[in-house]
Amino acid sequence: MIDFRSDTVTRPTQAMREAMANAPVGDDVYGDDPTINELETWAAERHGFEAALFTSSGTQANLLGLMAHCERGDEYLCGQQAHNYKYEAGGAAVLGSIQPQPIENNPDGSLCFQKLEAAIKPDDFHFARTKLLSLENTINGKILPLSYLAQAREFVNKHNLQLHLDGARVYNAAVALDVDIKEIAQHFDSMTICLSKGLAAPVGSLLLGPKEYIQKARRIRKMLGGGMRQAGILGAAAKLALTEQVPQLAIDHSNAKYLAEQLNTVTGFSVNIEHIQTNIVFARLDSQIDIHDIVQKANQQDILLSAGNPIRFVTHKDVSKEDIDTFIAFLKNEV
Ligand SMILES: *Cc1c(COP(=O)(O)O)cnc(C)c1O
Repeated sequence: MIDFRSDTVTRPTQAMREAMANAPVGDDVYGDDPTINELETWAAERHGFEAALFTSSGTQANLLGLMAHCERGDEYLCGQQAHNYKYEAGGAAVLGSIQPQPIENNPDGSLCFQKLEAAIKPDDFHFARTKLLSLENTINGKILPLSYLAQAREFVNKHNLQLHLDGARVYNAAVALDVDIKEIAQHFDSMTICLSKGLAAPVGSLLLGPKEYIQKARRIRKMLGGGMRQAGILGAAAKLALTEQVPQLAIDHSNAKYLAEQLNTVTGFSVNIEHIQTNIVFARLDSQIDIHDIVQKANQQDILLSAGNPIRFVTHKDVSKEDIDTFIAFLKNEV
């Protein structure tokens, strides 16, 4: 199977399976799971935060993150393309009674500070209370520059807001920029990391932040049914995601560039190579390409694609350079 649909499809490594089988465990709702306790302590220190919380998914980490910053009737600023606005079933509004205030993303994924400033509500009982700015890095595979993150910190300080990072793929940004993860994390009050995308853990994300904030998030996690018992089985793989799998991301990035170059040799497919910063490739299709037909034929060859124009490809540890060659040969045969 060659699966380009997402980096969520990565399967756990052999080392993860062994660590999971051998993990010391306890009841994490009682705070008794040594593997989770070690993971949370280690992850907080590693990323420069006071505390960390292991969650069942990135969606849950974002929801807890937003709900721990905001009360009912508060508001968070975010991008129109933000995962925690567009792709999480409206959870912050539905379950947190938090009003999202989306702003159009710039083509590079950033948000314009003038537009953000204009969206902040005055202190007046007609309005929701603007509490938080939520950014995403990487966003659609694009990296927010470190200088932009520093400006965002200045912006929130000036306006007395909190700053959250949806860092589902923040390690892709750190690896591509060749900086320590703390260079990115330092600007934020809270941050999430998804361990079950390119980093290959089977399940789980982290929420990082100040001690009291994480205590609040832990209570909300319980409320949402996210308190887990012998969670160390998952925590053991989660730790390896962050200690052993990070270098794989550099390979994923170089494979994404290679895929982009190869797609440009296929009639009807075009990729702007300069836009490929991490592991996500968008290709534009000429009108003669019947993508649904191609997706169906690819499936018969055990190649999985998501249909769309632009069509999105994601590289990850379970797609090799040879797999890319196999796919390109298939495409050239079809178009
Ligand atoms: C995948 C993703 C999430 C959600 O993670 P799940 O584990 O799938 O719930 C959140 N934010 C971003 C930017 C993502 O790409």
